[in-house]
Amino acid sequence: MITDYGQTSMRLPPDARFSTICIHAGQVPDPSTGAIITPIFQTSTYVQDELGRHKGFEYARTQNPTRAALEGNIAAIEGGTAGFAFASGMAAIGAVATMLKSGDHVVVTDNTYGGTFRLFDKVLTKYQLEFSYVDTSAPDAIEAAMRPSTKMLFVETPTNPVMRLTDLARAATIAHTRGARLVVDNTFASPALQRPIEFGADLVVHSTTKYLNGHSDSVGGIVVAVRDEDVEWLRFIQNSEGAILGPFDAWLVLRGTKTLMVRMAQHNVNGMALAEFLSTHPKVTRVHYPGLPAHPHHALAKRQMRGFGGMLSFDVGTFEAARRVCNRVRLMALAESLGGVETLVSHPASMTHASVPAERRQAIGLTDSLVRVSAGIEDPADLIADLSQALS
Ligand SMILES: *Cc1c(COP(=O)(O)O)cnc(C)c1O
Repeated sequence: MITDYGQTSMRLPPDARFSTICIHAGQVPDPSTGAIITPIFQTSTYVQDELGRHKGFEYARTQNPTRAALEGNIAAIEGGTAGFAFASGMAAIGAVATMLKSGDHVVVTDNTYGGTFRLFDKVLTKYQLEFSYVDTSAPDAIEAAMRPSTKMLFVETPTNPVMRLTDLARAATIAHTRGARLVVDNTFASPALQRPIEFGADLVVHSTTKYLNGHSDSVGGIVVAVRDEDVEWLRFIQNSEGAILGPFDAWLVLRGTKTLMVRMAQHNVNGMALAEFLSTHPKVTRVHYPGLPAHPHHALAKRQMRGFGGMLSFDVGTFEAARRVCNRVRLMALAESLGGVETLVSHPASMTHASVPAERRQAIGLTDSLVRVSAGIEDPADLIADLSQALS
């Protein structure tokens, strides 16, 4: 039986370091040809040898070798037991939500991704699930929100776009002492900078659309689980609901993770360069970037993250000024999404966070004068020059 897909080559040393894991984990040379790259298995079914005897693959919703390779790869990258790839980040978060039963309560980071808030608030409340949105950067606020019915603590760190951090080790302790699971949406940091399972997280979710794929050419999601019972349930729900990642997208993300470490190193450099440039610019009133010593969670960022990433936002005082910056950038592109090799700017209040009520936006510091940047991996001098002319 050829069931090596998703397994890791014997050539990968058991104590391999992070970037080596990124390149090799979950992959073996193709057993039938020796191809070093896992092929795109664009098939719906698999021919069986005889009744009751097959090669471990029956139907492509249930098993696909390219997807299995990606799942094995990202599970190893995050340090989990198994991974399950979905058609989008939202489908991955939806799959995690199926672990809940009616009557269960979830504590969620207040400044969570807009799509996550919409899924929880507009869809899942129809199924007698309850959600409390709290500032999870304050452990006391998490404690206060926990109830006997709390089954999940769902955390995003750093948050979008004001870059608030949650102490993952403390969050794990609070969740576990109450019998709840800690779920971390690790999309913003990427596992190159932060591996939540090391701090006690039970489940890690990603929009692979962002840093893991890294090239702005695929939409996908993944859940990495630690506990055997969660692995079993996620395998069951991935097949039952069927929101799987297709083989071509799985192949693209697998190609993306090979360069995760070198890309993130440059995202870190460019994020810091832009944050430093902006923090001394006379027209900028505030910069949100965890790498700046003035950031309220800078010490936690140094402890919890290996690098401060490529995401930052800055305030230019008025909506009109923010509009001007967004419209005047030339090299940078005005677009939603993040984590690609090209730099993007966006206006959260009117774009990604337009569905968040104005008073909630105000409460988390998401002003109408805020501009968000996803720093790509271009030469930082060209990015600074572009922002400089856009601000002038
Ligand atoms: C983009 C994103 C999602 C949703 O992922 P999709 O692939 O767009 O469905 C979830 N969480 C975070 C933090 C994101 O940035």
